[in-house]
Amino acid sequence: MKSHEARLAIIGGGYAGMAAAVELSARGIPVTVFESAKQLGGRARGVLYNNTRLDNGQHILLGCYRDTLRLIEQVGGNIGRDFLRLPLQLELHREFSLRAPRLPAPLHLLIALLGAQGLSIGERISAARFMLMLRRMDFHLPHDMTVTELLARHHQDDDLIFKLWEPLCIAALNTPIHKASAQVLLNVLRDALNRTRADSDMLLPRLDFSALFPQRAAAYIEQRGGKVLTSCGVDKIVAHDGHIELITAQGADIFSHVVCATSPGTAARLLKPVAQLASTVAQIEALEHQPIYTVYLQYPAHVKLPHAMLGLHRRISQWLFDRGQIAGQPGLIAAVISAEGLHQEWSQDELAHQAIAELHDEFGIGAAPHWFRVIAEKRATFCCAPDLQRPGQQTALPRLLLAGDYTAGDYPATLEGAVRSGLQCARLLLRPEQPLNRP
Ligand SMILES: Cc1cc2nc3c(=O)[nH]c(=O)nc-3n(C[C@H](O)[C@H](O)[C@H](O)COP(=O)(O)OP(=O)(O)OC[C@H]3O[C@@H](n4cnc5c(N)ncnc54)[C@H](O)[C@@H]3O)c2cc1C
Repeated sequence: MKSHEARLAIIGGGYAGMAAAVELSARGIPVTVFESAKQLGGRARGVLYNNTRLDNGQHILLGCYRDTLRLIEQVGGNIGRDFLRLPLQLELHREFSLRAPRLPAPLHLLIALLGAQGLSIGERISAARFMLMLRRMDFHLPHDMTVTELLARHHQDDDLIFKLWEPLCIAALNTPIHKASAQVLLNVLRDALNRTRADSDMLLPRLDFSALFPQRAAAYIEQRGGKVLTSCGVDKIVAHDGHIELITAQGADIFSHVVCATSPGTAARLLKPVAQLASTVAQIEALEHQPIYTVYLQYPAHVKLPHAMLGLHRRISQWLFDRGQIAGQPGLIAAVISAEGLHQEWSQDELAHQAIAELHDEFGIGAAPHWFRVIAEKRATFCCAPDLQRPGQQTALPRLLLAGDYTAGDYPATLEGAVRSGLQCARLLLRPEQPLNRP
């Protein structure tokens, strides 16, 4: 291949890979996306079960996921139609309720904290003081620590931790508070709570996660001369002088630049044979992972929860989502169990029966579900520990970049983290000195 010929490949059609592909396509650079699965979306993908559209796990976006929301619109989505948008609220059934009034940020949050039900006056003041202090520090800690340590230093008592900070941390970082990075939690709080009120909104998608972005992105990429190949996994990456060869079951192909946007486990496997990338592989292999389990329960259509989304206190099911209210799927309830815990030792049937028992105890739902489906994502996200060393998007091979929620960035493993990493790869590839830009 001559050095001026630019051919670009993206390995992985999840949110990171598709974000990179959309950004490059938008700048007139056609790309080829290789996706090993039959469908796009990766860890945020639609699943069809019993003729019902589910996701591989119930997801939620925040208003501050600006890059993700922008890209969804860029490929033809409509944020107003595609999501149920709720102002910031945390409901732990019968235990705790925090609702932000429609006031400018951060006043909305302070009033929400001071008015929270289920906390003593002292606890409410302590939570509001803590938020004000974080604001004064510009949400930046002199050195990272666990969330447990940060909360102890700022006198947040056990009740406040159980009802407010722990559910928030697990929802944002999918990591237990005694292992979670306080700085990364503050990064999310800074963006969600301290800018505009809309940034703290919670967005629950009405369509599945493959349809929401990656499928639309594929059409966008193909309209601009690119290709999106599903069921076409890359088995091997071979680095040559001046180009990179990708080997799939269908044959070998040569590219000037490659973005590897798979999950961390696959990235380590694909990069391992490339001698120059040994330290990157070591960094990826050092990451620990955390699970997320989602129990979908299809009840008769009349069954409803009091809110579209609400939490349970000291139960196995942490968050419940009423898909009837969110996505027009009456009677379908999703119970989410994030991060590690004893529930990992239970069978899927035991988990589902526990969720059914909890729905009965908490809401008096006596009807039996018609069916249930448990989706266990055992390596859902990396464990977001303090001072975690995450591999950068640039590697020792200038023609090979890395995208993915686990790569360097100030967000935890989220859709926004994945999308930002993909955009960063596109930016690096679009720099004037890249051969991509030479005639
Ligand atoms: C159950 C669950 C719930 C979650 N909830 C939330 C939430 O509420 N909010 C939020 O923001 N985030 C949430 N996340 C995290 C979010 O889904 C991920 O951070 C994000 O989807 C990661 O995207 P990615 O593109 O980095 O990686 P992936 O989604 O893993 O994409 C990698 C892609 O590469 C493909 N691939 C793998 N090997 C190959 C190969 N050899 N060749 C070609 N392709 C290959 C895979 O099939 C996949 O499509 C959740 C994750 C899970 C699992």
